[in-house]
Amino acid sequence: MNSFDINRVRNDFPILAREVYGNPLVYLDNGATTQKPQSVIDAIIHYYSEINSNVHRGVHHLSQVSTDAMEAARESVRQFINAKHVHEVIFVKGTTEGINLVAQCFGKLKIKKDDEVIISAMEHHSNIVPWQMHCEQVGAKLRVIPMDERGVLDMDAYKNMLNEKTKIVAITYVSNALGTINPVEEIIAAAHQLDVPVLLDAAQAIQHISVDVQALNVDFLVFSGHKMYGPTGIGILYGKESLLNEMPPYQGGGEMIKEVTFEKTTYNDLPFKFEAGTPHIEGIIVLKAAIDYLTEIGLDNIKKYEDDLLDYGTGLLSAVNGLKIIGTAPEKSSVLSFIVDGVHPYDIGVLLDRMGIAVRTGHHCAEPIMNQFEIPGTVRASLALYNNKEDLDKLIAGLDRALGMLR
Ligand code: PLP
Repeated sequence: MNSFDINRVRNDFPILAREVYGNPLVYLDNGATTQKPQSVIDAIIHYYSEINSNVHRGVHHLSQVSTDAMEAARESVRQFINAKHVHEVIFVKGTTEGINLVAQCFGKLKIKKDDEVIISAMEHHSNIVPWQMHCEQVGAKLRVIPMDERGVLDMDAYKNMLNEKTKIVAITYVSNALGTINPVEEIIAAAHQLDVPVLLDAAQAIQHISVDVQALNVDFLVFSGHKMYGPTGIGILYGKESLLNEMPPYQGGGEMIKEVTFEKTTYNDLPFKFEAGTPHIEGIIVLKAAIDYLTEIGLDNIKKYEDDLLDYGTGLLSAVNGLKIIGTAPEKSSVLSFIVDGVHPYDIGVLLDRMGIAVRTGHHCAEPIMNQFEIPGTVRASLALYNNKEDLDKLIAGLDRALGMLR
């Protein structure tokens, strides 16, 4: 698609035609999960009606077809993030599993007593708890880059924190609760000066920003299929070959072995060393359909469109009496988080829902952020490529009605 045609895009998503409580659906909870285009839905049906079979283990036709389709999907992910090698693409359940895998396997290899792991003040719980668990086990220290009241990381504090004890830096590319786009190039370059690898949590970046792992020179990158218009239960861990080769396997079982005896097991090569058991074959194959969809529209077109929408929404919300936007970093993506004086976010969310407007309320799995702002949570409208100005006009009208009832 050369230019972004919002009407065509909206028509690709059948769920947008449904009503909720008698009102047309306004879906603004895309940070939690995105809706699926018809091509993705069709790919699920095609998989189960035409090729369902286990992979890498059958001599029969269908097994070969599903294995080929799965490996074609791996190649499609490789191209999408521009990884050097296809075996650097590991299929996992999602961002959460990807981070847990690195925390456990890289952790076992490199993070020992008194070592340090750096994360930031704006991490999702899934990029806090796995590191905390490993640090507690071995007696390592978790260090947290502070952020200011706009939701911008203190880069001087970060650079001062890096030292010879730092074993990994694990940072979100885009904050799910604030929308901040972090200066990941600068974060990676500073860590690499001390040979410290960097993991980027791209759960909220991959669907909005074109990501090139080689240009970034990032060591690990994780993201989830369901947040990029694909299925749930499938995600990607990208890791540099040298690091993945060094790391011990994550889980034991079928697929991840070369030879097994009761005395000793030898492990399979990448990527299979990290893919024990029957994978989410359908999810993997259908993820390719989601990538094809995004690629056809073009991430640059998507970003430009969503940036305009974010500006429009920011303008509308800023004019609401008593409303404060939480997350005002100059570099932001697709998230409008806010609170309103004297009104609990949950009450706003419930009333908006009755009008067919889906937003998320609460701490968005980022409790430390809420603690820093001393609030119980926010209302979050998170945008996707199929949202339009009318959705945001409806949000404002709905908010106006809700606040009229609550105040
Ligand atoms: N990291 C960020 C920034 C997220 O927004 C999310 C989900 O909202 C996750 C990690 C976890 O993703 P998943 O639940 O798909 O594993």
